[in-house]
Amino acid sequence: MKLLDGKKVAAEIKEELKRKIVEEKEKTGKIPGLGIIQIGHNEAASVYVQSQIKGSKALGIQAFLYAFEDDVKEEVVLQKIEELNQTEKIDGIILQLPLPEQISRSHILQAIDVNKDVDGFKTENMGRLHLGEEGFNPCTPEGVITLLKKYDIEIAGKNVTIIGRSNIVGKPMLGLFVNHDATVTICNSLTKNLKEHTLKADIIVVAVGKEKFLTADMVQEGAIVVDVGINRTVTGKIVGDVEFEEVSKKTSYITPVPGGVGSMTVAMLFQNIWKAFIKNRRIVND
Ligand code: NAP
Repeated sequence: MKLLDGKKVAAEIKEELKRKIVEEKEKTGKIPGLGIIQIGHNEAASVYVQSQIKGSKALGIQAFLYAFEDDVKEEVVLQKIEELNQTEKIDGIILQLPLPEQISRSHILQAIDVNKDVDGFKTENMGRLHLGEEGFNPCTPEGVITLLKKYDIEIAGKNVTIIGRSNIVGKPMLGLFVNHDATVTICNSLTKNLKEHTLKADIIVVAVGKEKFLTADMVQEGAIVVDVGINRTVTGKIVGDVEFEEVSKKTSYITPVPGGVGSMTVAMLFQNIWKAFIKNRRIVND
């Protein structure tokens, strides 16, 4: 069994991005800008926002936080989005969850310029993904594909089973695997005989959000297991959806949690910001 070391791969990707950002700044004086929209006071979201700001700074990306009170009117946020769409210093816009009930996630997302949608959640970017066209792909599924490729894992012709069909993980993951010529099964909570689907899989992606969900009896010998889940145990430890100790004995490759897909997700956000910067500022990439 080999570990798919997302932490290491993510660090390499970030190092390379940092190098390109420094080089670009020296050449043109321009740096990428990220706009973060946060509404209300949620402690977990604030911790996440601070880590995004810190991570951006470390790479030379300028992050701007636009914080609104819980009772802000939707039109005020939409007006800010419009402003950020027009501002040259902002290349990417992300919306922090959760949102208060008067704010529609869909209204906000759809207001973001398609070329600044670095989370890749807009309908148009989702459509482009499924059509195999160039756009911004959601960071978690893009991170999974990038990680597999970094380990030279062949995807074409493989049987892939994805457990979970959320809009941010399962569905875009399906599209990306299809685009990479895999044969894909996608499961949900109503799937009958889940084990039948996982046992035939060369690659299993689990994105359910339940500790120890994937057990060793559900995995064929030599399979590759990608654990997207993030769960906090009663003792406060972060674990994935896979019963790692037993499952890992049967796999050829497996992602750890933490240090697997989560690390890649963060790196992919920065990669999308760089991509947006290149596109929005019409810089020719080498
Ligand atoms: P979600 O929106 O809650 O979706 C969970 C999916 O799992 C749903 O499609 C659900 O089916 C399915 N499911 C639940 N029980 C099942 C069962 N018994 N059999 C088969 N499928 C079942 O969650 P999410 O946002 O996709 O996130 C999933 C996990 O990944 C969470 O732990 C989350 O924290 C984590 N996550 C990690 C990252 C990262 O960077 N590593 C990023 C995003 C999310 P139905 O659709 O039928 O309800």
